[in-house]
Amino acid sequence: MKGLLDVHTHSTHSSDGHAPLSEMVETAREKGLLFYGVSEHFEYGVYVHTGEIRERKIDAERYFHDARHLQDDYAGALNVLVGAEFSFDYDKTALKMYAQAYEKYRPDYVINSVHCIDDEDYYMFSTQAQSKFKQPKNVVYKQYLDCVRASLDVEYPYDIIGHFGYMTRYAPYPDREMRVSEFQTEIDGIFKEIIRRGKILEVNSKSKDPVEITVPSREMLERYFELGGRKVSFASDAHDTQSICSRFAEVTALLKEIGFTYYTVPCRGEHIKVEM
Ligand SMILES: [Zn+2]
Ligand SMILES: [Zn+2]
Repeated sequence: MKGLLDVHTHSTHSSDGHAPLSEMVETAREKGLLFYGVSEHFEYGVYVHTGEIRERKIDAERYFHDARHLQDDYAGALNVLVGAEFSFDYDKTALKMYAQAYEKYRPDYVINSVHCIDDEDYYMFSTQAQSKFKQPKNVVYKQYLDCVRASLDVEYPYDIIGHFGYMTRYAPYPDREMRVSEFQTEIDGIFKEIIRRGKILEVNSKSKDPVEITVPSREMLERYFELGGRKVSFASDAHDTQSICSRFAEVTALLKEIGFTYYTVPCRGEHIKVEM
């Protein structure tokens, strides 16, 4: 099996999405994708801590209803996967809410991502007070890596580790890179655990860096491969129709250079190999 794919996208069912899901799916079909996965944000951590802003809490009922309809409508024309991006949080109530949402809606796959430390999303640090990033890089990055390590132990099922290195996109340090040599113990520990558990490492093409085209970085992907990691997924992290499958060819070429030969697409517990 071979073809274009993208298994990390958001529609207006997520508070930061720009296009309705129907438009996202239709665009994916026009672009000729083999697999199109939608993975709306579930941010129960933020919700639990702040009681916040109801608009950030997804209407899961409406999302799954809408997405399952589209999945049926497009059967034969496009493989639509109905997923979810669960934003990991240390809070036990939030973790329980994720487990319950999983049981109730049975998404086709789950992306396990870390976005927040102490209730603040890392992307805020580039625009707001930047309090978190006033600490030295090694402290901030270590805290993030510990959080990612902890996220691997959640009790609900998940398939993909989302945008590993996410916060490097937003960190204001002159040198933002998360080098394997600087955090070898933590990074190796995470990769070995991903491999041991048979999970998929996401390769996210939404990079703010003109040089580094992916999150995780090329160096990190090389280390993952060296340790025996072979399962990778492609993620544009599109929040609009234009970005679906963005930089697919570029990212695929990079992965092939490292030695990867296939993408892994998760669907209902199955891992499908798609040749690069
Ligand atoms: Zn994310
Ligand atoms: Zn996302």
